Amino acid sequence: MAIPIPYRQLFIDGEWKEPIKKNRIPIINPSTEEIIGDIPAATAEDVELAVAAARRALKRNKGKDWAAASGAHRAKYLRAIAAKITERKDELAKLEAMDCGKPLDEAAWDMDDVAGCFEYYADQAEALDAKQKAPIALPMETFKCHVLRQPIGVVGLISPWNYPLLMATWKVAPALAAGCAAILKPSEMASVTCLELADVCREVGLPPGVLNILTGFGPDAGGPLACHPDVDKVAFTGSTATGSKVMSSAAQMVKPVTLELGGKSPIIVFEDVDLDQAAEWAAFGCFWTNGQICSATSRLLVHESIATEFLDRLVKWCKNIKISDPFEEGCRLGPVVSKGQYEKVLKFISAAKSEGATILCGGSRPEHLKKGYFVEPTIISDVSTSMQIWKEEVFGPVLCVKTFSSDDEAIELANDTQYGLGAAVLSKNLERCEKVTEALEVGMVWVNCSQPCFCQAPWGGTKRSGFGRELGEWGLENYLNIKQVTEYI
Ligand code: NAD
Repeated sequence: MAIPIPYRQLFIDGEWKEPIKKNRIPIINPSTEEIIGDIPAATAEDVELAVAAARRALKRNKGKDWAAASGAHRAKYLRAIAAKITERKDELAKLEAMDCGKPLDEAAWDMDDVAGCFEYYADQAEALDAKQKAPIALPMETFKCHVLRQPIGVVGLISPWNYPLLMATWKVAPALAAGCAAILKPSEMASVTCLELADVCREVGLPPGVLNILTGFGPDAGGPLACHPDVDKVAFTGSTATGSKVMSSAAQMVKPVTLELGGKSPIIVFEDVDLDQAAEWAAFGCFWTNGQICSATSRLLVHESIATEFLDRLVKWCKNIKISDPFEEGCRLGPVVSKGQYEKVLKFISAAKSEGATILCGGSRPEHLKKGYFVEPTIISDVSTSMQIWKEEVFGPVLCVKTFSSDDEAIELANDTQYGLGAAVLSKNLERCEKVTEALEVGMVWVNCSQPCFCQAPWGGTKRSGFGRELGEWGLENYLNIKQVTEYI
């Protein structure tokens, strides 16, 4: 059952604060198209306050600097946040399902991942203490050298709407573990659970200013954050177009950035696969989270010898996906996040049709759902490499298909994209999988599966999917400055 959306303000210096311009943004439930609440809209003046609070917090933590405290000290807060998230899991999952249309059980699994990520970076914060002052062997005995890993400082974290709390956590948890103070700017399309994270931080007594959360529109709040002279680093997840703007702003001050951007990832299905299992991975890899995953394997490359049989099974699979309100039992596909996104997805489908592609299934709103931004899982064949549907990220439940006749052709088609986030390779021949893996121009390869994600393993892309890695120890390194100390003895 739906629950009321809490009324929240901006979270600055450990307190709720009304935005200086007093503006708010309505929240529209994408399943019902109804306004269910609103969020505060921050502007440059609020960014000023939050950055100043974060700067102070680096040096203030009950007499002890946050930045200079031990990793073990910071880990206690991260574990307390994880415990509270787990305690509030059902409520948070409901809020997220209402805010962005995610099926309720998927949203609940995301909350487990959020708690798991805070726990993981609590471990990493503790491990950081042991890594300090690790000696470096030098070729001259008259010198000795070691390395200090210190927090970068104040960091600006800008996140998207597809996994609202989880994508924010991928940044917040390692930033805090490293000893940074942060300003999080979630997406204006889905900020509700990030504001609840603020409430969790208050409840566990996180020192004021260590994490500030500013909701609001990108250009009004994200823009001033990215170019603020007192923000030492920006970590951004979102579209390639916005990522490019963020990078330009940061470049003015030679500020480090990590960019997790869009994708058009391939899934390569060789002729020796188990057809049913491969069809399930192909459907899951493209339609999970309503097709709104950056790494969604949205280009299917299937060996020509099995294409007809494989596509028959895949279409059958798609017709059985339950599309409904995210709160309905067994829902596997909810609405896309907004009216704008709904229109954009349908426009991609109609452009593909007019360019000569064939819609194998789906292609429109499901008949049984009269309201909400629902789009059927859609499979498009007869696609050429010059078509928009092949080249551009749709960010909706749309899969385009091409066949291949050799391993080399599969690799060439897989790499025929400006993006380089993920790729899936499905074959019983593991030697072939290894060869193909090496040739793929991407940051992540999934062998005989699609979309597995563990907070211990690095996540990120190449080409226009961005650079830098989140998660794992790489995620922590993003927020650390490596200081070399060499002594003459
Ligand atoms: P978006 O680029 O529209 O917005 C992302 C964030 O940037 C939001 O918080 C937005 O308010 C903010 N923003 C917008 N304009 C800004 C500006 N001028 N300056 C600073 N900030 C600004 O992206 P989205 O629609 O929220 O998310 C979908 C995109 O995110 C897709 O392209 C998807 O592939 C990508 N994504 C990538 C990953 C990854 O790990 N690579 C993960 C999730 C989503």
